[in-house]
Amino acid sequence: MKSSDLFERAKQLMPGGVSSPVRAIRPYPFYVERAAGSRLTTVDGVEFIDCCLAYGPLILGHVHPEVKGAIERQIEKGWLYGTPTPLEIDLAGTIIEDHPAVDMVRFVSSGSEATMAAIRLARGYTGKQDIVKVEGGFHGAHDAVLVKAGSGATTLGVPDSAGVLADVVAHTRQVPYNDPEALDTLLARNEDVAAFIVEPIMGNIGPVLPEDGYLADLREITAAHDVLLIFDEVITGYRVGIGGAQVRYGVKPDLATFGKIIGGGLPIGAFGGRREIMEMVAPSGPVYQAGTFSGNPASLAAGYATLRYLHEHPDVYRHLDEATRAIEETALDARRGSFVRMGSLFKHFFREAPPRNYRDVQECDREAFSRFWKAMLDAGIFLPPSQFETNFLSTAHTRTDIEKIADAYGSCLFA
Ligand SMILES: *Cc1c(COP(=O)(O)O)cnc(C)c1O
Repeated sequence: MKSSDLFERAKQLMPGGVSSPVRAIRPYPFYVERAAGSRLTTVDGVEFIDCCLAYGPLILGHVHPEVKGAIERQIEKGWLYGTPTPLEIDLAGTIIEDHPAVDMVRFVSSGSEATMAAIRLARGYTGKQDIVKVEGGFHGAHDAVLVKAGSGATTLGVPDSAGVLADVVAHTRQVPYNDPEALDTLLARNEDVAAFIVEPIMGNIGPVLPEDGYLADLREITAAHDVLLIFDEVITGYRVGIGGAQVRYGVKPDLATFGKIIGGGLPIGAFGGRREIMEMVAPSGPVYQAGTFSGNPASLAAGYATLRYLHEHPDVYRHLDEATRAIEETALDARRGSFVRMGSLFKHFFREAPPRNYRDVQECDREAFSRFWKAMLDAGIFLPPSQFETNFLSTAHTRTDIEKIADAYGSCLFA
């Protein structure tokens, strides 16, 4: 069946025809038959260079031989035991070694679950109720973080989804990104804040990058007000380098959340941080957290193989950075909008100056983006279908792929 027919059928069976909203591309999404390296092949027989990469996990590209081998070897031995496995110790040990702020970790099954648990833990540890997040920051799809952007620091949070209780998000306040004073002012006025959660680099509207000193300011301000600092590194972990943004910018959060790359493409999440905080988690402490699929062996094997590969090939980060720089050079030639990149994260914004925060990103010309996105797809390049989702590169993108992407950027931006 063709993609268009499959989508007609899917719409009868699943809300919006999809398993996650961003996939509902109009008029219909393409259905993938298989993937390898940097390429997706659709059921319609079309091949795309993939710059979406499942929204981040696949830093080594599709079906990387070492990750595939690790998954196959694990599957032979079983894929779910409901008992501890030696693999947990390998992956936990690696994450802890790579992140000076992390003394202990707990594995869960998704990034959403990780931030949900980290927030509960922060409340349990501090005995305080409120949390502060950044406007436009994305931390998954659970109630406490589904707050409408624009409900700022001085007002109570307003639910961003039907079904989320106003009472729940009343405990969530928001501040703009890159605005340390706004956080300081809010924390000075509100003594009931358990934690400030932030994507150190905003990955779900961008990338939008932290200005010089912003992350260090966050560390100082939260410490001064006795508020836990949570870095949500679900995208940035192992994406902007070993040790994520916290090592790259040299700022130690109290807690950090992970997902995406640490599972090598299989479902995973993790949260970790200072020992005295983490020891509050059940069964060693009173903050409850549990999961049937937590620490499932297949995800651990895929994640561990991915992290080992990255450790053994530290040059990959420099190569990825050079690749996005090559794309930037062509995009800048187009003299239209702004290009932002950080290692293998990149995005072209249809707005004169690079955005500093969520409000800036809202000013982008979305229609121009849609035309550009469609033109790129016609040129054989699959980008995330939103002005507000970052593009990704992987180690599987070849020099020829990068040239094709750069050329397509050039011609599609000029179009
Ligand atoms: C993807 C993402 C999440 C949610 O992770 P899931 O595995 O999709 O639940 C949370 N935080 C950030 C920063 C993310 O990019």
